[in-house]
Amino acid sequence: MDEKEVVTTDRIKEAVAAVKAERPAYAEILAFYENIFLAQEAKKGQVHLEPIQISEELLSVKREGGFPLINKADFRVDIKVSETLLREICHLAPEANEMLAEAGPKIMDALDKGSLEASTLFSKILREDDTYFEKAAQKLEIDNKALAFFAYSSIEPCLSLCAEQLATYLKDRPWEKGYCPICGSPPALAMLRNEGERSLLCSFCNHQWRTQRIYCPFCDNKDHKTLHYFFSEEEKDYRVDVCDLCKKYIKTIDTRKMKRPVLPLVEQISTLHLDILAQEQGLESGISLWLQT
Ligand SMILES: [Zn+2]
Ligand SMILES: [Zn+2]
Repeated sequence: MDEKEVVTTDRIKEAVAAVKAERPAYAEILAFYENIFLAQEAKKGQVHLEPIQISEELLSVKREGGFPLINKADFRVDIKVSETLLREICHLAPEANEMLAEAGPKIMDALDKGSLEASTLFSKILREDDTYFEKAAQKLEIDNKALAFFAYSSIEPCLSLCAEQLATYLKDRPWEKGYCPICGSPPALAMLRNEGERSLLCSFCNHQWRTQRIYCPFCDNKDHKTLHYFFSEEEKDYRVDVCDLCKKYIKTIDTRKMKRPVLPLVEQISTLHLDILAQEQGLESGISLWLQT
């Protein structure tokens, strides 16, 4: 298998269908996310973004200091395409859970009335302005996590495309950190491939980077005595890696054992039961709450 699974419309459909067949309990929630993933994928072809340039000088400072290439606020967003996607996602919301279903029409209404600016929403999500989301959500009488979810999902194609462009600066550059070499965000998921190489998936820009096998990306712990994992007998291709030091966990997919098409974005949704199990044990996910919506 390649280092990174290529996302295409067919691949999304195949991966979702395979998970639905394996785990019917996820059929409903995956139907909603499949439509979101397909809408996002379709938008990628319409996005126009100037490449982000990084000078040789700045690049070497970043390399030496172990800094990510950019800050999240530096991501470029095609406002027009992202706003169209935002409206599409609002239309899809009634198929989602109650929190999103309630928020979708209210966001759409506010956009139409001009009381909510899509461009502000996008810039605030890049700046992680929690106060803005709390206030704006309160005004709309919706959940702030829902508002952040809509904003993030709408710019996701731009983030992925920016990350793909920026990844060209990372060639031949080993990265030993637990945060994304592109944007500095924590990983949402880990993948084991081929001979057991472990990769991490960025929770924000979807970049994937290779990492050490025995390693907690949230606190840099490398001591095997305080790192362990659990899995259920029925699902040997999934496990939850746990760090006793920082009490955080990360879900891991062992793609070597899977005979079906795998897409990390789909797996992230179809493993929500593992998040529940981990959180019942008092463990914390290392990613922002609104990314877990
Ligand atoms: Zn990233
Ligand atoms: Zn840790």
